[in-house]
Amino acid sequence: MTWSSRDIPISVRLRVRRYTASIFISEAAFDVLYTFAIYMAVTLGTGVALLLVWRQDRAQTFTALLGLSHLIWTLNPLAYLATRSTDPLWHHVGLVGLVLVGTTYLSLLTLGFIHLSGRRFSRWKLLATGCFLFLFHIGLILVDLHWAQLGFAALNTVIGLVVAWWLRRQGPGERASGLLIVLCGLNQFTYVVMGESGTMLQTTVAAALRLLLGMSLMYSALTRTGQAVRRLHDRFFELTERSPQGVTVVRKGMVAYANPAFRQIYGMNDKAPHPPIFSPRWVEQTVPEAERQGAELIARRVLDGQLQQAEWHGERFALDGRRLYLRFRAWQVEWDGAPALQVVVSDDTARVDATQALLWRATHDELTGLPNRSALLQRLRELFEDPAHPTFALILMDVDRFKLFNEAHGQSVGDDVLKVLSAELARCLADRAQVMRMGEDEFALLIECVDAVNEAERMAQQVKVMLREPLVLPAHRFFLDVSMGVASHPSSARDAEAFLQVAHAAMHEAKRLPGTSVQWASADGAQGLVAFFSAEQALRAGLQNDEFKLVYQPKVAAKTGRLLGFEALVRWDRPGVGRISPLDFIPAAERNGLIVPLGALILREACQQLAAWRDQGLSLVPVAVNVSPLQLLDAQFPESVLAILRSFQLPPSCLTLEITETAAVTHMDQVNEQISQLRKAGVEVALDDFGTGFSSLNMLRSLPLRTVKIDRSLIDPMPNQEANAVVKAICDLACVLSLDVVAEGVETEAHASAALSAGCDVLQGFLFAQPLEVDEATRWLTDRY
Ligand code: C2E
Ligand code: CA
Ligand code: CA
Repeated sequence: MTWSSRDIPISVRLRVRRYTASIFISEAAFDVLYTFAIYMAVTLGTGVALLLVWRQDRAQTFTALLGLSHLIWTLNPLAYLATRSTDPLWHHVGLVGLVLVGTTYLSLLTLGFIHLSGRRFSRWKLLATGCFLFLFHIGLILVDLHWAQLGFAALNTVIGLVVAWWLRRQGPGERASGLLIVLCGLNQFTYVVMGESGTMLQTTVAAALRLLLGMSLMYSALTRTGQAVRRLHDRFFELTERSPQGVTVVRKGMVAYANPAFRQIYGMNDKAPHPPIFSPRWVEQTVPEAERQGAELIARRVLDGQLQQAEWHGERFALDGRRLYLRFRAWQVEWDGAPALQVVVSDDTARVDATQALLWRATHDELTGLPNRSALLQRLRELFEDPAHPTFALILMDVDRFKLFNEAHGQSVGDDVLKVLSAELARCLADRAQVMRMGEDEFALLIECVDAVNEAERMAQQVKVMLREPLVLPAHRFFLDVSMGVASHPSSARDAEAFLQVAHAAMHEAKRLPGTSVQWASADGAQGLVAFFSAEQALRAGLQNDEFKLVYQPKVAAKTGRLLGFEALVRWDRPGVGRISPLDFIPAAERNGLIVPLGALILREACQQLAAWRDQGLSLVPVAVNVSPLQLLDAQFPESVLAILRSFQLPPSCLTLEITETAAVTHMDQVNEQISQLRKAGVEVALDDFGTGFSSLNMLRSLPLRTVKIDRSLIDPMPNQEANAVVKAICDLACVLSLDVVAEGVETEAHASAALSAGCDVLQGFLFAQPLEVDEATRWLTDRY
């Protein structure tokens, strides 16, 4: 800003002006003063406008700095006028003013543009720049005011160029500001080039440039505020629109916002019309009646400010009727200037369902859907702990000969029988008793009422009547018998477990009676225990009195029919009762542990018979003896087998042990160890009932076996094509593993020829012979070998 005092007219009309002129300039021109005033008004206006912009958005520091720099710059013409004063005091005040205003203006300007360009300057650099500007100003002013004008113009232009360079890659507002600040610098050369005649031109152009600069800075500020708002919006979008949690804002009872997750949780199809959210209809459709009042109360307390934040959870319904389990968290927010409720919804349905499914599985039987043994025990425990001492009765029920039945018709038919039976029991009795399945073929009926004893009696009769009719399956009709043991409480049983045991014992006693039968445990449970006890006593007596004997079923070569060996099968000839099948007493002996001495007796008996045949001069064939899993658990078992063989001076090769597949799977490690020892000693081992358990290929390979016996249930459907294929596959596998294959339960010629062509080496079954008494077996040895 320069002009020469020579051009200023002397006539000053107004008093104020005269006064001012008398202070600052001797010969002031009114129109120059006028231009100055406009210029000052422009810098003042833009400065204030920029500061106002900053007040609205304080993040934009550059508006404050540049606004302040403009305000300071407003003082520059006044300082300049003072330097022109003839009064030396004012002249020096003017010089100091020029230095301070110039330094402060340029410092703030530089700092403002540093902010605008997003650059970072260390404090030291800033301080150094400030000092440089200060010293530069002082230096120039001390030299000469005319040279100072040139220096200031150059400095402003250089700073302008630096700023323009910083802003060259920014938005249009920033780039225009850079350009304008360069032009402001260049404009100062007007005076240097044109002399004092350029003063008016320079000031007018400077005012216009300042105005444009102010506008472009404000444009930049507005653009940046817009971008910040957009970023905020985007962030909001990221946070809520993509949130897996439902988010909604409720204002005056209606929804102001609901994110996609919220819509999805409630199954709202955006295309189909749905009830306005939070209208009474919405509440009616989604909130179960029992929960409505509670949920509304919580919402109101949050909106009233009584609660800062509320959390609740509960069952809800989706619009498509699905049952949901939701968790809610709510707090107050301001939405469009009014208080609103923000609710965050988490869908917990899957987790709650999974927990309930787990709980259901733990307490229910999967096949029939009935509560299981642990559910019964749980309930019994509750009843025993109930201080009111409730009266209740328990009927335990076991299907007679279910194992045989399963073997004869296959497991899936067996499963169907259990399902139909449980459905029948539930249909007839569920309104008066809890029907449960204890496992396998055992059911329980729990009766809780004052008259439990009589009710149990009536129910047992009802079951008897029910079973007079056959059970109807999709492809079969079956008559079933069950054995029922009944126990009632109050009794001497002290806890649930003892009570269950008493009922169990009564059921086992009932098993001894033919047909569908009921056995009551006496009030103190002794009767049931006696039953259990007496079964054990009878077995013990049988062992002592030599009531067990063996029969021998031949195994023949599939191709030639030649006798290859016998399977020894035990029979119990009980005085006064008759012959009892091993199917009826082996499980009991396994339960009470007597299978171990019984098994040893059977082994000795078989070896004794082999020795007898040898002594008669007959050629020996191997005899197979069935071994119970319990025998295998004894680590001494292999040694005791070898000891028996030695005692009869028999070669180990004349004995084969049959181990059921299920036993082998259940006790894999022990079985493996025992079989290895036996085989090393020369005793052969066969895997019995192959195809009924779950043995894997890996197991077959790792067990040191000699023979696989294919179960009767696989041979029975032959020569059905599928059955043939299954047996052939087993034979092929056995061939690869170098195992002999025995087909069990060969009853017809068709079975025999199918088994032969499938690859079975040895056949056993009623077609060739029933299990034979000793003399008949001896005849086979002489005739067929
Ligand atoms: P298992 O080892 O599978 O014995 C074969 C059973 O099938 C025998 O029944 C036999 O009489 C029967 N059987 C043989 N050929 C045919 C046929 O062509 N058709 C039909 N339907 N059945 C046939 P058994 O003797 O009643 O023995 C039943 C089960 O009792 C045996 O099944 C075995 O698991 C067990 N067992 C028998 N004796 C003993 C023993 O001495 N010790 C042990 N631990 N268990 C034994
Ligand atoms: Ca067997
Ligand atoms: Ca078998």
